Amino acid sequence: MADKHILVTGGFGFLGSHLVERLLADEDARVHVVDNLSTSPIDHEAFVRRVNNPRLTYDILSVEEYGKRGAFAPFQEIFHLASVVGPVGVLHHAGKITKSITDDTYCVLDITQKTGARLLDVSTSEVYGGGRDGYCSENDNKIITPKVSVRLEYAVAKLACEIALMNTCKVSELHAVIIRPFNIAGPRQSGKGGFVLPRFIKQCLAGEPLTVYGDGSMIRAFTHVIDVADGIILALRKGRRGEAYNIGNPTNKISILELAKRTVKLSESSSRIDLVDPKALFGPLFEEANDKYPDADRSTNELGWKPRFDLDTVIRDSVEYIRAGRVD
Ligand code: UDP
Repeated sequence: MADKHILVTGGFGFLGSHLVERLLADEDARVHVVDNLSTSPIDHEAFVRRVNNPRLTYDILSVEEYGKRGAFAPFQEIFHLASVVGPVGVLHHAGKITKSITDDTYCVLDITQKTGARLLDVSTSEVYGGGRDGYCSENDNKIITPKVSVRLEYAVAKLACEIALMNTCKVSELHAVIIRPFNIAGPRQSGKGGFVLPRFIKQCLAGEPLTVYGDGSMIRAFTHVIDVADGIILALRKGRRGEAYNIGNPTNKISILELAKRTVKLSESSSRIDLVDPKALFGPLFEEANDKYPDADRSTNELGWKPRFDLDTVIRDSVEYIRAGRVD
């Protein structure tokens, strides 16, 4: 059988690295990663050494630089993950997020059209702006709140790209599918972008107080990164073109205060829990997101996606990775 050529932008990211490993499990898959390492949480050389697979190749380049090459392998599948990330990480890019997200998406679209590949675009659950009291179904309104924030710029840029891809599907042969992940967590996630679980775990392991923001009543549904990687592959291969799918585990829904308590317990820590004001830590640009948890029925029914990892496993796997001090 001929080799299948696959491109993964952001393939050395937290989610990207798990996706790459799962794609390489197919023996006919040749996976090419394009990543400029701007938000990569791993040592990419250590990762490549551990994976140790000649079917994995890479360029340390931005999507735009890569796109300028003009000639590409005959990709059949393109997974576009490269993006600024994280509620704190995005703050450094205020005002430039829209350009960076849309430029990259159009560049990837161009490569997709040149190669005739199928495209999977990773969007965000933030496009719902909180859905109905946190419950977000694909058919719900995408709410643009009156309060302008850096987070809103990120969400609106991702939404604009979704719509551009959906419309391109209507007027061309493009086969693009979109996913909206909900609070991905697990091994290799770094607390640097501001993400809550690795921050709590590092605080637990250092015996420092856990920094729960506000009153800790915020609701999220944490989804194991391996489940999300599986969902992405299913979406590209089984999803309807021009359609968006929630990828999030509704049964892992929890308040952040409860998450803090569970993390202390499962990491056998004696840390106390403090309620703090995030603006005091990160400045006035920091903005809390509305509660969010997914309706995952469309992914379950149409893609056959079934998340396998419960919340305790998400926490335990993350604790183990951070405790071992791994970088791959
Ligand atoms: N959060 C917190 N303490 C932290 C980091 C985050 O209480 O040290 C909260 C944050 O305010 C949010 C939730 O945890 O309500 C999830 O945060 P994360 O940044 O991981 O994801 P997002 O807010 O983008 O869903």
